[in-house]
Order: sequence, then structure tokens, then C-alpha cells
Amino acid sequence: MKAVHTELHRSHDPQFFLVRGVVKRTTEQPERADRLLKGLKDGKHRLVEPTTFGQGPRARIHSPEYLSFLSEAWDAWTALGDSGPEMIGNIHPVRHAATYPTHIVGKLGWHTADTAAPIGPGTWAAACAATDVAVTAAQMVMDGEDAVYALCRPPGHHAYRDMAGGFCFLNNSAIAAAHLRQKHERVVILDVDVHHGNGTQGIFYARPDVYTVSIHADPIAYYPYVWGYAHERGEGPGLGTNLNIPLPIGTGDDGYMQAMELARKAIESFAPGALVIALGLDASEHDPLKGLSVTTPGFRRIGQAIARMGLPTVFVQEGGYLSDILGANLTSVLAGFEEAR
Ligand code: ZN
Repeated sequence: MKAVHTELHRSHDPQFFLVRGVVKRTTEQPERADRLLKGLKDGKHRLVEPTTFGQGPRARIHSPEYLSFLSEAWDAWTALGDSGPEMIGNIHPVRHAATYPTHIVGKLGWHTADTAAPIGPGTWAAACAATDVAVTAAQMVMDGEDAVYALCRPPGHHAYRDMAGGFCFLNNSAIAAAHLRQKHERVVILDVDVHHGNGTQGIFYARPDVYTVSIHADPIAYYPYVWGYAHERGEGPGLGTNLNIPLPIGTGDDGYMQAMELARKAIESFAPGALVIALGLDASEHDPLKGLSVTTPGFRRIGQAIARMGLPTVFVQEGGYLSDILGANLTSVLAGFEEAR
């Protein structure tokens, strides 16, 4: 399988991460991509540089105000003169009868869902590069490749139309799906990250043409806490095209595969033309953000199950944090896909 990758992700190197009131170093580090790259090399996947698609694909998903905010945020922040090394919001407007602010601190609060998406000097460049990686993979699949993997960093599935959060700024999976929509009437995003793909759900919640399916650790006790429940099924014309499958904390391979079977049936009945896999590897038993307990052979089974759906497939990297087997889990899921194809 061809794999799209760029070194441009390195300009985004966030530090701040607030966990239960304790400031730690974020787990979303550039080294993640090095380990994933090793997994690709071990699997003998051919690396491809992304094409630059510009703002067009991003603007299909994100609002003009949000894209302007992200592109200008760092300069406005440093111009304050007394600001910290990363942008962390200190207001959290809930938007009830609110006015879109003009001050950078106001905008920062408006456009961030939580404190886990610090913006630094190279965040915008890296986030844009990640969307090019995802769109390049989608374009390759539209041009005839059976499946392509996109090594996106920063990840994207927690980003809404106009709101960053959970290490995510631009929703790479959503942008890939919107690109695929130029060719296919119906597209599915299957999110296998340990965290609910809340941003993706939000973006497509009222749309009947993109079916969003997420298998994740139960938000009753896990991030993002306020989205990801089974009763969230879409709204308006999108009612019935959002499926959440929350799993008890610690669920292992067999429980996970039962959820994959539920997802497969739902996806089959939707009859999509293409599939985007929001490929978090943080459901691993060894992930530092412990939620589920999928083993390395379990990831192989997940890859096999995805292959059997029989759809042109774009894999978009989401979460998966530093552990000794991060790369091996990527090798495993892609090997499972290829052997079952
Ligand atoms: Zn995750």
C-alpha cells in the first residue's frame, strides 16, 4: 500500500497538556510520526510526498472565520507582548447569545473546545500539511488506487467546523471524505480511535451523504465525556447516519471485533462508494492514554475486517501515542488489510 507522508508536521511540537488539573507534556509529540514511519518501512509500504491542494479542501469543511483565526493566531498572540509560549484559552464561551470577538484571547476561547490543542508558531503550517497528506491519499484512491494510508499529524477527528480540541485543529478525515464526495455520492467515515470522533460527528451530523461511525471507549468515563453516546444518531436530514458504538473501558480484541461486525452491517446497508478509516491506534493495550485493550494481533483482525468491507479505502492517521509497539500496530493493521483484500 502506498503511504503519504511529509516531514512538515515537525513544526507543530506542542508541550502543554492539562490532565485533571496537572500540567504535563502532551502525548501528541513529533516522535509519534517517526515510530509510525518505522511501522510503514517495516511493512514495506512505498512512501509518497503529498501534493499541495491549497485552501480549497479545507474550506469545504471549516468556516472562513476559523481558518482566518488559525492562520493569523500566532502573530496576533505574540503581538500581545506578554503572552506565553503556547496559545491556551482562558475563556470558554458556550456561545449562548454571544458575539464573535475581535480580540485574539476572545477568539482563542471561541475556537477551542478544551485546553488540549495549544497553538504554537508552527501549528498552522503543520495542520495544513496534514490536510494535504489526507487529500493526496483521497485523490490517489479516486484515481484508482485500492487503498492508501495518510500519515497525518497533527490528528484531526476532534476538530469541528470552527473549533479545535483534543490535539486536533483541521479535520483531516472529514476533509478526505469531502474530497471523495466529488466522485462518490455516499461516503463512510469509520473511526476506530479509542476516543469518540466528536468533531467528525459534529461536522456531518445533519448530512445524509456522509455516514459517520465511531467505535470508542465509553464517554461515560473517558474523553470527550459529552459526546459519543449511542443515542446520538444525527439530526434533520442526517438523522440515522451517525452511529456511536461505545465500549466498556478495557475492552479487548473479541469485544472490539463484535463492534466491528455491528459497524460492518451498518456500513453495508448504507451502500457507500468509498470508506475513510479514522485510524487511531490508541485503542492499544499499551497506549499511554489507556482506554481499550486491543493487542497487536487484534489490530491485524481490525485490518482484515476493514478489507472485507470491499470499499476503496483511505486510512487517515488519528491518535496513537508513544509506546514500544506503536509502529508494530500500524504494520499489523495494514498487513491485515492487505492479506484479506
Ligand atoms: Zn485518540
